[in-house]
Amino acid sequence: MLFASRSFCCLGIRTHLLQRDLPSKSIRFSAFAMRSESDPQRRHVNRETMPFKHKNTRRIEGLDSNVWVEFTKVAADPSIVNLGQGLPDISPPSYVKEELAKAAAADRLNQYTRGFGHPLLVKALSQVYERVCGRKIDPLTDILVTVGGYGSLFSTVQALIEEGDEVLIIEPFFDCYEPMVKMAGAKPVFIPLRNKNDGNSASSADWVLDPTELANKFNSKTKAIILNTPHNPIGKVFTREELQMIADLCIKHDTLCISDEVYEWLVYKGNKHIKIATLPGMWERTITIGSAGKTYSVTGWKLGWSIGPQHLIKHLQVVQQNTLYTCPTPLQEALAQAFWIDYKRMDDPDCYFYSLSRELEGKRDRMAQLLREVGLKPVIPDGGYFMIVDVSTLSPLVIQT
Ligand code: PMP
Repeated sequence: MLFASRSFCCLGIRTHLLQRDLPSKSIRFSAFAMRSESDPQRRHVNRETMPFKHKNTRRIEGLDSNVWVEFTKVAADPSIVNLGQGLPDISPPSYVKEELAKAAAADRLNQYTRGFGHPLLVKALSQVYERVCGRKIDPLTDILVTVGGYGSLFSTVQALIEEGDEVLIIEPFFDCYEPMVKMAGAKPVFIPLRNKNDGNSASSADWVLDPTELANKFNSKTKAIILNTPHNPIGKVFTREELQMIADLCIKHDTLCISDEVYEWLVYKGNKHIKIATLPGMWERTITIGSAGKTYSVTGWKLGWSIGPQHLIKHLQVVQQNTLYTCPTPLQEALAQAFWIDYKRMDDPDCYFYSLSRELEGKRDRMAQLLREVGLKPVIPDGGYFMIVDVSTLSPLVIQT
């Protein structure tokens, strides 16, 4: 899979640079016009107004292509191994699956639960994150449970980003950031991670923000920056110094920080995940996003959460109550029970929060070795599910998608 013109390829990424413009909109319109000509049921439709009334809204204009729709189609060919999508090939922990079976067997847990998050789950999340963040987190006002990390991103952007705002996005990035910002009527402004070794990258830590370039992107319209650490697709784990640089600019320009930390537990030896919300002055302006899918290797569960100060979370709650209303009760109950199990053993290396990254680290090293053996140059990730690879030795072949 290609992700950049610099001959880097990525195993397991979602990136905007793969998007292709498909002429689907014009095809859809002409198909409708042809159908209505011959269909008596549709004769009453006024031709003058038809194309307008059936047109997409401006907020989704130009957003109809999606790399994952395309990749899923391609990967349906059984001769192709899909290394492109972020999901584990290991079994989720057995206690997580057992808790779901137990929850499904309890009648009352098969009905709606609290819209902003099942009470037991927000309680469990508050306990875990109080411990991680070293501060009080109110389960009812500082947390919103939603449909995956995607749902958390969506409600955050819809609740806090206004038409005309600018939102900083660090390139490369998880593909949905850009369309979500555009759907809110705001302008994405991109700032690249640059390879400080200019083409010779052995580690995800080689990819850095240029401090001056970053500072120059901030202005009075900058409403928010979207941070992703550990980073998809580079695998970079932002250091305290890098986070402090971002925090200083956020505070200086009164900018919000949307911190996508769905890979927070996937951090490999020698690295530490730091939450930007824990830096001085940042809690008040940060929404931190997590995902059950990534925490427990259950991407199909599609549960996520946003954590932040009440004065921001209350706006996300308004989006949720007027869109999804609530998330599946049995899944939330099972996730809460799993969190209680791991919360109680957070001092134990067998806690799933730490054992998963140990398991994946061995796979990372094996994959890197295989890639080296065929003459490619992997960029070793410090965190996350993904690995980018310098494919310049294959350039003429890979440039065909
Ligand atoms: N953020 C990032 C960086 C991701 O990689 C993903 C999923 N690949 C998500 C958010 C979405 O997470 P979820 O599956 O929980 O919606």
